[in-house]
Order: sequence, then C-alpha cells, then structure tokens
Amino acid sequence: MKNGCQRPASPGTDAPRHHCGLFGICGDDRAAELAYLGLYALQHRGQESAGIACSDGKRILVHKDMGLVSMVFNDPSHLKRLTGRCAIGHNRYSTTGSSNVLNAQPLSVEFKCGQLAAAHNGNLVNAAELRGHMEREGSIFQTTADSEIVLHLIARAAQGPLPDMILEALSKVVGSYCFLFLARDQLIAVRDPMGFRPLCIGRLNEAPVVASESCALDIVGAEYVRGVEPGEMVIFDANGMTIRRLAESPRRAMCIFEYIYIARPDSRIFGQMADKIRRAFGRRLAEEHPAKADIVIAVPDSANTAALGYSEHSGIRFEIGLIRSHYVGRTFISPEQHERDIKVHLKFNPVTGVLKGRRVVVIEDSIVRGTTLRNLIRLIRGAGAAEVHVRVGSPPIRFPCFYGVDMSTRKELIASSQSVESIRDFIGADSLGYLSVEGLLKVVPKPKDMCAACFTGDYPTEVPVDFKKEQFDLHRTGAI
Ligand code: AMP
Repeated sequence: MKNGCQRPASPGTDAPRHHCGLFGICGDDRAAELAYLGLYALQHRGQESAGIACSDGKRILVHKDMGLVSMVFNDPSHLKRLTGRCAIGHNRYSTTGSSNVLNAQPLSVEFKCGQLAAAHNGNLVNAAELRGHMEREGSIFQTTADSEIVLHLIARAAQGPLPDMILEALSKVVGSYCFLFLARDQLIAVRDPMGFRPLCIGRLNEAPVVASESCALDIVGAEYVRGVEPGEMVIFDANGMTIRRLAESPRRAMCIFEYIYIARPDSRIFGQMADKIRRAFGRRLAEEHPAKADIVIAVPDSANTAALGYSEHSGIRFEIGLIRSHYVGRTFISPEQHERDIKVHLKFNPVTGVLKGRRVVVIEDSIVRGTTLRNLIRLIRGAGAAEVHVRVGSPPIRFPCFYGVDMSTRKELIASSQSVESIRDFIGADSLGYLSVEGLLKVVPKPKDMCAACFTGDYPTEVPVDFKKEQFDLHRTGAI
C-alpha cells in the first residue's frame, strides 16, 4: 500500500476551530454548579458541546456531551456527581466536520503525574506538523482536536512540577490559546504570548474565578479583578495565586473580531467593555457611510449595539424591524449551505408595520458568505421597504482566520474574490458600505496590539502550509 499507515492529508488539519467559552473556579463547594452557570453565560461562544471537569482533591470527574449547556446537564444527577471545590467548564463552537462527542471538552487524561483535564479556546497553527510528527513516532490520538496535542506535549515534557511541564509543552506550539488545566489540587490558566483570545480573572468571596468573558463572572456574582495578561500563567492552589510567564512575544495580536461579533456587549474584553467599542464602530460607520433614510434597523442580536451607534451619529431613528427567534441556533453552525439558507428564514421575521414604505438602513456586524443578508433583504423588501441600504460594522473579510474564528478558507469569504459593488448586487441592496480598516483601528484603544488579519492579511504568526499553497495557487492563476 502506497501510503502505508500515513494519513492521507495533512494530519490535524480537520481539527475543529473554535472560539469556545471557558470557565474555571477553585475553592468553592459549589464549583461544578457555578461552572454550569458560567457556561450558560458563555453559551454564545459555542453551542456544539459542553462539559465540566471537577476535582474533589482525590480524583477528577467529567461530564460532557454534545449540545447546549441546558441539554448536556438536563438531569440534576449530572451536576450532583461532580463533587469537589475546583472545576473547569467548556463550551465548544461548531464548525464543519469533526462534530462528535470525542472532541467535546474538557479533555481528560491519566498520565505520569496523575489525572489532568484541559479546556482550550483557540487554534494552534502548527497543529498539523506537531501531530504528524508525534504520530510518526507512534502516538495515538483519541480526538481530532488540536488541544489534545498539548496534552501529549505535556506528557512528553521533562518530569517536574506541572506548571513547568505545561510551560515546556506550550513553548512548542504556535497559534492562539487560552487554556484551563485542572489537576487534582490545582487550577492553571494560561493565555498565549500574543493574547489572541480573552481571559479574565474574578473573585467570588475568596474563590478565584477565570472566564473567557466577564459576563460569566456576573452570573455567579463574582467581581472582576483583571485580565490574564498575554503570556501569563496563573496558578491557583493551596498556596494561593502564583504567576509564571511564557516566553515573551514582541507582538500582541488580540482578536478584533471579539469586539465586532464574538463577545457579548455586556462583557469586558481585553479590558474594555465590548458595548462601548461596538457602539463606536457604529458611530464611525455613520461618519464614513451616511445614508438618506427614514429608519435604522439591526440584524439582531449581534448588530444591535453598532446600529445604536449608527443611529446616534446619523440622527436617524433606531427601530426594531427584524424579530429574531432565539430558539434557532446561529445560522453559521449548519454544515450544509442549503441548510444555512433555510435557517435564515427560521431565525428572522420582518416587522411589516415598521418597514413598509420606509427607506431602511440595515446594520450588520460582518459579512462572511453573504447568505444571511441576501435572504434578509428579500424578506425586508417583501415587507414593503422602499429602499434598503446596508452598512457593515467591520471591513470586508478577505482572509481566513487561523486563530479560532470560523472563517477557514478564502473560497467561503465573499469579499475575498468580489468587489463591494458585486457583493451589493449579490445581496440585493440599494447601497452597501463597510467600515474601513483605518476606521476600525481608530476606534480600538491599542490598534497595534490587535489582530485584524481577516481584513488585512497581515498575519501575526506563520500560517499553515495548506494556506501558503492556496495563496500560491491563487497567485499563479491570477485570481489575486
Ligand atoms: P454570512 O451569512 O455567511 O455572511 O454570515 C454573516 C452572519 O454571521 C452575520 O450575521 C454575523 O453576525 C455572523 N457571523 C460572522 N462571523 C461569524 C462566525 N465566525 N461564526 C458564526 N457567525 C458569524
């Protein structure tokens, strides 16, 4: 057999990408229950699977499954079983493929230092190389998640205190990660040196809490203390809190898409309230792309805040012109394109009395494939709108993300191959205006510390080999 036991394609490249939700707490008898509440607040970051690992000081128990938090923990016995004072929880975001319970987190292993559970938010750029290398050496993987690679690296690290082993393992990975590790008697939180994804620390009475977004602190009644710094490892155990550092990175690359779409507006992200930044995107959009219209409406819920900013700056009245059903998952989740189209109709309904005869500005936070807006504009026109002017609170997405946002190939991104005018034509709008890259970066406090590679192509790390090849092919055929 030609390939022998080799995997046919680049190993690890079908690994799920995720902007998942993480929650950890140490030192409270209700640890699992609090993690469950925290995961509820972080449900928007991932709806495919959920899980909690809890340590009672002697052993770690895990409950995880496919589905929303409410489905995974639909029986009180699930939480009751998870006794102990330290817990970590994880919501996983769904993408095409790799959708099975094996990839649900926290991952849990037994290795030379005992039991270890891990929850990961992010995406490792060199996962394929690392995994291929380990597989050739005989390693057996149980999941297609890149997170498992880090557990292997930890198991291979020189024996020592767990934080040292984790630091050694992470020195080999490139990409974005926030990790929560749970050992029998320790909770360890780590953020990658460039700081792609957010992670913050709070306190509930004396118990430290860690979460992807501060809205998860609010739900358990914890106060916000600070963000975990890029490259920082925070260890919580019987000695209190200890800080270690990963190797310094000359560059920061905090994901600007967290402000645009991912985070909840009531969360503090990278030290700033997402609501404040998103509103400012809307105001800036109104400055750059004014419109003659009667009302401003948002594509709910993710564009609501930017629409308020647009309305504020333009003086055009904000109205609720689309009603979103909250009982349908995010459209992006569907693996099949036709399913996505149907889901748009399932999810939104126009308010005829608001739209009829009106010139409408529709605010959307971002356009990926363009299918949501194409379908929505049909619905809005069907409700009698006189004109439909689309304004987008972010620049055209031209480049895939390798750091955990689900925009994986250039082909899927409408703006990677089409002009603004042809996108306008495709979605069927009377006019279309995107926020400029300059405008976007003007709004955020430390623009040099942000990653805006999906708009600019300026990647802060090496990119996966497959992408380099795709770029080369596109250049060769004259497509870019
Ligand atoms: P599309 O229909 O493919 O243009 O997708 C755009 C819609 O998906 C917008 O309503 C966005 O709020 C939302 N969106 C943008 N980025 C993502 C993402 N990475 N995952 C899920 N939804 C997204």
